[in-house]
Amino acid sequence: MTKCCLYARVSTEMQAEDETPILSQIDACRKFAQSKDWEVVNVYKDEGFTGRNTNRPGFLQMLADAQRKPAPFEKVVVWKGSRIARNVEDRMSCEALLARKGIEIVCVTEPAFEGAVRVLMVPVMAGVDAYQSALIAEDTLRSMKMLARQGYSTGGQPPRGYQVRREPTGRHNKKGEEICRVKWEPDPEWRDKALRAFQMLADGYGTDEIIEKMGVIRCKSHTCTYFRNPTFIGERVFNVHRRVGGRVVKVPLDDPEVIRVPNAHEAIIPRELFERVQQILDKRRPKPGQIRASKHDFILSGLLWCEKHDCSITGTGNRERRYYACETLRRHGRGNSDCPLLKKEALEKFVLDVLKEEVFTTGRIAEAVKYLADTVKDEDKRTQTEVNALKVRIAKLQREADNLNRALMSVTEDERPKSTLKLVTDREKAISELEKQITNLKGQKQGGFKSLTLTDGLVQSIRAETLAILDNESPDNLKRFLRSYIERITISGNSVSFKFTFQESPNSSQLMVAGVGFEPTAFGL
Ligand SMILES: [Zn+2]
Repeated sequence: MTKCCLYARVSTEMQAEDETPILSQIDACRKFAQSKDWEVVNVYKDEGFTGRNTNRPGFLQMLADAQRKPAPFEKVVVWKGSRIARNVEDRMSCEALLARKGIEIVCVTEPAFEGAVRVLMVPVMAGVDAYQSALIAEDTLRSMKMLARQGYSTGGQPPRGYQVRREPTGRHNKKGEEICRVKWEPDPEWRDKALRAFQMLADGYGTDEIIEKMGVIRCKSHTCTYFRNPTFIGERVFNVHRRVGGRVVKVPLDDPEVIRVPNAHEAIIPRELFERVQQILDKRRPKPGQIRASKHDFILSGLLWCEKHDCSITGTGNRERRYYACETLRRHGRGNSDCPLLKKEALEKFVLDVLKEEVFTTGRIAEAVKYLADTVKDEDKRTQTEVNALKVRIAKLQREADNLNRALMSVTEDERPKSTLKLVTDREKAISELEKQITNLKGQKQGGFKSLTLTDGLVQSIRAETLAILDNESPDNLKRFLRSYIERITISGNSVSFKFTFQESPNSSQLMVAGVGFEPTAFGL
């Protein structure tokens, strides 16, 4: 029996998003697993977590369990792909991570592309989802601006020194719960400590001492977030977190799109003291050179192949000169081989450029979106056919039951044979069973890709999300991404050819990229 686990997630902004309550998600996944005869071995869930990053306890636990040997499950069933991640990079990364353990993600409401087509369709599905959720986010932003101007909270936890006060609005949501507005107000227990912490920092005390004496923050790394927070001078700030490519980043407070509403609530730090603390923090900021080292990973290792010697090409070199070299060449020394050394940076850039310019083209993405839309339409049609067939069977059973009932009514109660009564109840049972099947079939399609239309905006957005992964800093994600698309890059003399893991959509008119030539001097040392 195939073992599976279920994963469900709802975000804090559930009402604003296109989400289904967590219990309905689990219910839909469970029914789906049942229909496939899969055994559910575990249920992971995250309530109140956004899908814009992977920092979620249930999700991380699921990934950790997946690494165990033997893997405790073969499938991860989710209601929708957006439960796994709201951005293309995290979704791809998770797919690739699980695939390496032989584990597959199965989305109840989405078409189940398999094998080679899947590789190309997953980023497209994730991209469509990210695009649609961005449209919803714009709506949410509008309503949040309105709330903030009235001095209400738009979500999140206040810093220490403040507490939340819930104000009932008198209105109720669908579940009958009263909708509350949230205001932030000084917390009597912490407001003095917050003020003294600001004074200590202004007087030149170190962070460790402030933490020890006041306890307003738990560790040093929170210093800037806390002491730079304009909440303390009565301001409400939002739209600070922004999607850039596939990532969520925090933009500076003076960014034109950041919305700051002054006098949204009572200030507890005098403005003059707050400004003095900002100047001190500016002086403590590390110099740019101190921050990060450059990446040294060979992102292509394991993918490159030397055709001439039928061996792999791997990364080598020292800190100053880094290159890829044919294994045979390295074993026998340069004198016995005429394979060139390939400059690391140049070869990597070439491969990434091929992906950017030849693989993730707008044409190819548009075709994939169209293929997705067609598949969804076909599946809907198939569901409708199944529903119609079930309805025909119900009608037939109903007619039979009606006839039997008529026969029973024509005789007195004592003369009605038990066997005929049983025939009637059998039919009634069968009818309710079939009706349940119809509800399940219809339910499965809810929340899928509705009204998917091919627009330039959609295609450009998917392209931007995908290209952002290729420009990313994280070598681990980049490696996983390259491995999910490229099976092998063969280098032969002065030509490079790519073997990709994906297939074109069946109606594709575009040719595979193969044998892309390059100048030998471009990579050679
Ligand atoms: Zn070679």
